[in-house]
Amino acid sequence: MAEIAIVGGGPSGAMCGEQLACAGHKVNLFDEHLAWEKPCGGGLTHKAIQCFPFLLDNSYPKKLVHSVELISSEEHQATLEMPHPIVIYSRTVLNGMLLDRAQAAGCRVHRSRVMSVDTTTTKPRYCLEGEWHEADFLVLAAGARNQLLPETRALQRDELEMTQGYFVPQTADAITIKFLPSNSCRTSKAISGRSRAAIISRLGFAGACPRIRAPSCEAT
Ligand SMILES: Cc1cc2nc3c(=O)[nH]c(=O)nc-3n(C[C@H](O)[C@H](O)[C@H](O)COP(=O)(O)OP(=O)(O)OC[C@H]3O[C@@H](n4cnc5c(N)ncnc54)[C@H](O)[C@@H]3O)c2cc1C
Repeated sequence: MAEIAIVGGGPSGAMCGEQLACAGHKVNLFDEHLAWEKPCGGGLTHKAIQCFPFLLDNSYPKKLVHSVELISSEEHQATLEMPHPIVIYSRTVLNGMLLDRAQAAGCRVHRSRVMSVDTTTTKPRYCLEGEWHEADFLVLAAGARNQLLPETRALQRDELEMTQGYFVPQTADAITIKFLPSNSCRTSKAISGRSRAAIISRLGFAGACPRIRAPSCEAT
């Protein structure tokens, strides 16, 4: 049985924690926020549901969306009916469900920020509130902006996309994706109790890049 520390309790860290704990390891998971709401994530495709049926078969609040409305920048419109729904959660609910499952499997979940890690020693170490701890294995699941490993660097401007997200106090039965005249698009998706709207565009590329970047992870 190995002692494993996981940094990050998003979908990656929580699922990893659940599976390692199920395999009998002693797992500690650290996340500075635990389950929290954010404009990204929460839309689950049919492929995800097929791989992990529990994402649909549970009593946590969610919304099933069966159609996507596409509106071009010239206002042409198409509605796609999907044979399998996209399952949409509030991100707090989704992360909370995954952390609940990790905990139920025996993973110990802590609300703490890991300040730094040290992988130069025989056993990896991590620093919590100024105190160093060691584990047999260290899993870094701290998201795209994670800079805990020495060789990682901050993302550059041209590697980023800007998203503005809003919660709208109403529900909708379809996802709407509207392409704007510039290289950006506006999308909205319904979650139980309220809708979310977002405007996505590349940073510093206005007019320079014809590619329209739609959140394909949600619509395919
Ligand atoms: C605008 C947008 C929309 C998206 N929509 C969807 C969607 O609809 N469906 C979908 O499947 N995916 C979507 N994604 C992608 C999805 O959000 C990510 O793939 C997913 O969140 C990655 O999960 P993760 O666990 O790797 O990282 P994260 O979800 O980023 O989790 C990392 C966790 O680590 C914690 N953390 C970071 N640093 C530390 C530290 N030092 N100490 C302790 N904790 C730390 C954070 O608090 C966070 O909870 C979207 C992404 C964006 C940007």
